Amino acid sequence: MMTYWYPGVFEAIKIIKEALPSVPIVLGGKYATLCYDHAIKYSGADFVISGAGEKQVLQLLQDLFGEEPFFMPDSEDLDSLPYPAFDLIRKIDQLPITTSRGCPYSCSYCASHIFNDRFRRRNPIKVVDESNTGKKNPV
Ligand code: SF4
Repeated sequence: MMTYWYPGVFEAIKIIKEALPSVPIVLGGKYATLCYDHAIKYSGADFVISGAGEKQVLQLLQDLFGEEPFFMPDSEDLDSLPYPAFDLIRKIDQLPITTSRGCPYSCSYCASHIFNDRFRRRNPIKVVDESNTGKKNPV
């Protein structure tokens, strides 16, 4: 979430590598985007993705496994993105849900405008619907 938390990311990568040495690790997000060269050099991840990751992850999986993606999301349309597979999580106490990307403001000390050239919101109905997919007894 925050670039300056990167040491914790390195620690997580180290722990995962020890537990699952044959599993490739893909690192993306704010730190990897803003400090791409640093992440490549020091993170220990096998792959580093800079910028919006949806299409890049699918391209990486295609390169690794040689299979065409059966779905290509439109990064410009947040409502075209599939819901996370919350059903694969055994116990859910909290859900991270994206309601928008970007910000209507451009504070000089903030990198939001580097990640998103404009403010985009999801359809609120889809946000609520997605939150219900994480509940055992949806409302
Ligand atoms: S530009 Fe960044 S700091 Fe400023 S209001 Fe938007 S998110 Fe917050």
